[in-house]
Amino acid sequence: MSNEHSDFTAFALDRRLLAAVTKAGYTKPTPIQQKAIPVVLEGYDVLGIAQTGTGKTAAFMLPIAHRLANGPRLMGARAPRCLILAPTRELADQIGQAGAQFGGAVGLQGVSVYGGVGKRPQDEKLRRGVDVVVACPGRLLDHVDSGTIDLRAIEVLVLDEADQMCDMGFLPDVRRIIAQLPTQRQTLFFSATMPKDIRELADRILQRPVAIEIGHSRPAATVAHALFPMRENIKGTALLQVLEREATGKVLIFTRTKRRARHLAEVLEREGHRVSALQGNMTQNRRQAAIDGFKKGRYDILVATDLAARGIDISAISHVINYDMPSTVEAYTHRIGRTGRAELTGEAFTFTTPEDEGLVRGIERVLGARIERRLLDGFDYGSTPPRPSRPKMERDGNWTPRGVSVPASARPEARSATARPARPSGGPARRLEPRPEARRDPHATGAAPKPARRTFGRPR
Ligand code: AMP
Repeated sequence: MSNEHSDFTAFALDRRLLAAVTKAGYTKPTPIQQKAIPVVLEGYDVLGIAQTGTGKTAAFMLPIAHRLANGPRLMGARAPRCLILAPTRELADQIGQAGAQFGGAVGLQGVSVYGGVGKRPQDEKLRRGVDVVVACPGRLLDHVDSGTIDLRAIEVLVLDEADQMCDMGFLPDVRRIIAQLPTQRQTLFFSATMPKDIRELADRILQRPVAIEIGHSRPAATVAHALFPMRENIKGTALLQVLEREATGKVLIFTRTKRRARHLAEVLEREGHRVSALQGNMTQNRRQAAIDGFKKGRYDILVATDLAARGIDISAISHVINYDMPSTVEAYTHRIGRTGRAELTGEAFTFTTPEDEGLVRGIERVLGARIERRLLDGFDYGSTPPRPSRPKMERDGNWTPRGVSVPASARPEARSATARPARPSGGPARRLEPRPEARRDPHATGAAPKPARRTFGRPR
């Protein structure tokens, strides 16, 4: 089997799929597509280690659509033939969109199945008959338990972002689901990282898989990284400065908790930014409205938690800002995977406090390089400026080397040392004006949420 295909026409794909690829604007297969498409077409199981933004979805969706459209239906006129498991609703929706794009092109029907939205439309779609089900494990099991889905005709199983499913505690559900499937099937297993639990699951469910590894589980090379050492209590003001001076494009900000995401979005909105939050306490419709608004440019800034942002594909994000350090090196990789996608360049800024040092070293090990430390020129870091461990680079005149002394007159009033992001105070601190283009959006609050896309059947 060859794995060097510089052109989609070199794959033995249905011509309707080739037309759909052209319509999607893809001219050249990405490395994972070059490797995976021929292997999946030949019916092999795949163990794919690939970072986000590599084109992994089309790498499995195209050959699956080819197989389902051209192979015989083995059992049951209406039972689904392909099951794709994903950790989050957003990722399920994105895979569903690729299903509509490519599966729809060859007449396949599909449904996305996840919680947080009504079960009945999913029931109806399943009853009418679908070829492909894209599902989050919990809701899928509800359907299994209520008898609305029959998994006995599944020919292809895809586990996407398996490590994240494990992190979210879905492994028992995933095992229960797999126990319902025919043992004779093709299984495609994708994970950005391969911790022990995941390796064991892969060993158990894959049969003589072809291993495909795209890069290492480390951030894309198109992302530049910088750390901003500071103490917790000045993060809010520092963020406003960074947004003012540097991160002026499409910015995705990560916080540690849902509450911090919501609160920070409120603070930024008060400061005149066009911003929305994305966190797990929001209804699915509101989450989708936030993502759509960000994608379409209604918001410049999205403040998200890790889980809510998992897998979302938003192209042209210029900056990812870790307002809070992620809890693991893997989580850093995933967050940073939101920028620098599909060969665009991006910047990843991380606000670090002294407690984050250990994790910083872990990230630097994975990157194989030391990350640049930056200080904000003229910014009041409080009574003791943070002490990054080595000299910093000066950059565009906006950033100064370490040890920058800040005149006492420029220091803000003492702020609460709690984790709440501080609003820049008036008084002696520098008062920030909103970015000129960041006017308040009359639609930013109270906008009618867009219904989540839950089914596919026709190409869009
Ligand atoms: P994924 O890793 O599947 O989330 O894909 C990341 C992004 O790359 C998505 O926006 C895809 O539409 C896009 N993409 C996938 N394959 C290609 C390709 N061959 N050429 C250009 N863009 C692609």
